[in-house]
Amino acid sequence: MTYKCDFCSGPSPTVRYHTHPFGLTTSDQVFGDTPIYNIDGLDHVATEDLHPHHGIGAMMSPQWLACEACSRWIDARDLTGLLTHCLTQFRASGLLADACVNKEMTTAYHHLFRAFFHYLRYREPWPPSP
Ligand SMILES: [Zn+2]
Repeated sequence: MTYKCDFCSGPSPTVRYHTHPFGLTTSDQVFGDTPIYNIDGLDHVATEDLHPHHGIGAMMSPQWLACEACSRWIDARDLTGLLTHCLTQFRASGLLADACVNKEMTTAYHHLFRAFFHYLRYREPWPPSP
């Protein structure tokens, strides 16, 4: 099995990051009593209480593999740098050829990475040494 970078989809990840579990959502996607947290205008939940019918099921894995390039941006806590790097990779592989998709993905990844930095706990080398 080959592993890819969870950020830019590049080959050969070298670092694994751990975050608190979180999901990106809006208030109509969770049960009424689920607390919605907001960081800088970004709605999300920190539980798995996504609504069974409306939830987009976007609970993120608490483990993220990163390639050398991405880990440099992450360790520097450089959200813009990380985002720019990933979008450049996606564009190079033709994923964002459509202007509409391009805009949506840019926004989605911006939100996702912001939450990632908020919930980031620690890093470790990957793969783990035997
Ligand atoms: Zn990467």
